[in-house]
Amino acid sequence: MPGNDVIIACESGDGQTESGNARLIATGSELARHWGGKLVCLLAGGATDEKADEISCHVDEVRVADFGGHPYNSTAHLRAARALVGEVDPRAVLFAHTFIGMDLAPRIAAGLGVIAASNCLALMPEDDGLYLIRPMYRGRIHAKVEMKDCPIVVTVQPGGGDLPSATRQGSIRTLPVEPDANPKVRPIRILAPVKTGIDIAKAEIIVAGGRGIGEQENFALVENLAGALGGVPACSRPLVDMGWFETDRQVGMSGNSVKPKLYVACGISGAVEHLHGMRESETIVAINKDPDAPIFEVAHFGIVGDVMEFMPPLIARAKAIRGALSG
Ligand SMILES: Cc1cc2nc3c(=O)[nH]c(=O)nc-3n(C[C@H](O)[C@H](O)[C@H](O)COP(=O)(O)OP(=O)(O)OC[C@H]3O[C@@H](n4cnc5c(N)ncnc54)[C@H](O)[C@@H]3O)c2cc1C
Repeated sequence: MPGNDVIIACESGDGQTESGNARLIATGSELARHWGGKLVCLLAGGATDEKADEISCHVDEVRVADFGGHPYNSTAHLRAARALVGEVDPRAVLFAHTFIGMDLAPRIAAGLGVIAASNCLALMPEDDGLYLIRPMYRGRIHAKVEMKDCPIVVTVQPGGGDLPSATRQGSIRTLPVEPDANPKVRPIRILAPVKTGIDIAKAEIIVAGGRGIGEQENFALVENLAGALGGVPACSRPLVDMGWFETDRQVGMSGNSVKPKLYVACGISGAVEHLHGMRESETIVAINKDPDAPIFEVAHFGIVGDVMEFMPPLIARAKAIRGALSG
């Protein structure tokens, strides 16, 4: 029977690292507290020193397996995770629902002979067991699932924002992992995310454009409305697929999860994959010429109409109000 400790596999690379780690720390702390166990963080890959210091303020122990070079080496990460699981004998192992977590969690679970539950929105320890909230049927419903396996292996959806303020001072120790003389997978190069300086996951106001804006030059309307509202522009996936933008601007299941105070969707239908990334926004405004577009099911305010007609006066009005407020 495993003990009551919880392992969280934090990441040191780019992308949604911070929000993934923050959610892992918050979720792992809650489980460890409930079960009366330790919270142990696995930090594997390169560039781990600074991250280890940062994370040690939130966990009981950080175990660092620094392979140098690339931030992700799937074989080496797996060996590190297996070594730590073998040593700690945890009750739960939590990964972020990122490319790394999605790659590692099922393989760790398979090695332990348990199932991996992916993309969990919440983990709820109750008196009679542990329950998970997971999106099912492409996000159409949220299911409450009882986890009977032990240890529990899950991936947790990022989205916790920044790291909380420091609560403890955990130790930092090296995790010795024997190098694999003949790895089956070797990283060749990392395609780093393009840095635009805009982190839509942290924005308080987002104006997003979809295929309904028509031509690429019309996206200026989205940028202007974002500028007038003091927010940032974002987009749905087709605009990324068409090569107009990089994925750092994409909202949705395969892009970024956002939770701004205001989300304005312009010419976006509201497919489940898009809603998945923005439906927790505080206030949602949608402009769409189709009154039956699913985006109106989650919108608090809706304009049924053409973006080309409605956006210019909205921009002018927003600029006038901001001007009056600042003047
Ligand atoms: C595995 C997987 C992952 C995915 N991940 C994502 C993701 O992360 N993010 C994402 O966004 N999508 C994602 N998708 C794609 C998703 O299914 C939809 O295809 C996509 O969200 C549609 O984008 P859209 O709303 O911009 O375009 P469309 O669905 O084509 O909708 C365009 C909308 O604009 C409206 N419109 C047209 N002209 C005007 C006008 N002049 N004025 C006003 N309204 C107008 C139309 O009525 C329509 O509702 C994913 C799909 C899969 C299979």
